[in-house]
Amino acid sequence: MCKCILCNNKFDELTEEHIIPYALGNDTLKANILCKDCNSDLGSFVDCSLIDNIAIQIKRMDLKISGRGKVPNPFKQGVDAKGNKYIVNNDFKPTIINSITKDGNRFRAHASNKEELKKIVRKSLTRDGYYSEKINNVMDMIDKIEANKFKPELIYDIEINLNDYCLAILKIAYEYAYLRLGDSYLNDTRANEIKDIIRAKIDNKITANHYKNMFVNQINEEFSGIIAANNLKDICHFIMLMPTANNCIGCLISLFGDINLSYIVLVSRDQNKYTIPDPDLILIKSE
Ligand SMILES: [Zn+2]
Repeated sequence: MCKCILCNNKFDELTEEHIIPYALGNDTLKANILCKDCNSDLGSFVDCSLIDNIAIQIKRMDLKISGRGKVPNPFKQGVDAKGNKYIVNNDFKPTIINSITKDGNRFRAHASNKEELKKIVRKSLTRDGYYSEKINNVMDMIDKIEANKFKPELIYDIEINLNDYCLAILKIAYEYAYLRLGDSYLNDTRANEIKDIIRAKIDNKITANHYKNMFVNQINEEFSGIIAANNLKDICHFIMLMPTANNCIGCLISLFGDINLSYIVLVSRDQNKYTIPDPDLILIKSE
């Protein structure tokens, strides 16, 4: 029997968990540490906020990391200043989404070219019961008008929930500390605090206050040096346990070698109980 590190229940076998999500290009740092239900809950309630984060999606797009789906395109839907909607393909070419609005006998239509425009206008007039002769007149008019060509400036409205992002980082730290410090880490008071926060999120009981004091202050000069020395120009994640002040242990998680995506989680207040192992470097295979 083996014990799931999140719900503490015993199972005949556990499922494989990627400590840093597979969608971020990690296929090396993984272990059978969770039951099926906990693994699936973490995916739906915790890992998702990391995977959906726009900064992470931009990194994945740049490095063409597809994960289990497609390489993400965080800019695929945009809006211009007038509120017209656009689809943006992977080469960043915007295409307007066809639309037609009517006000009595006046109508206003948007389409990516004249043929598309004629198609939606014809459909709309037919539905309104106009005779084909009248419709053909309108089609002639469309042929004659100079279509308004322009390069739209798209506006993206981005919302990032930093709390959820931090929770996903806490999860990585908890699992990594367990993987490297062993079974005795499950009895660590700090381990249990982190685990309770993750469980509270899954049970929908979390408030922002839960995150207070979970992180070692900001990443300072010394730590940026560690990140810089270990990153291989945007192609790897870097994770390590390290002694921190007051006999504590921190877990430095540096995603994509980017200081803005790096955190140090306080994973234990009992440095003396453990041997701190070597850091891990996760290389991402380029396509
Ligand atoms: Zn479980």
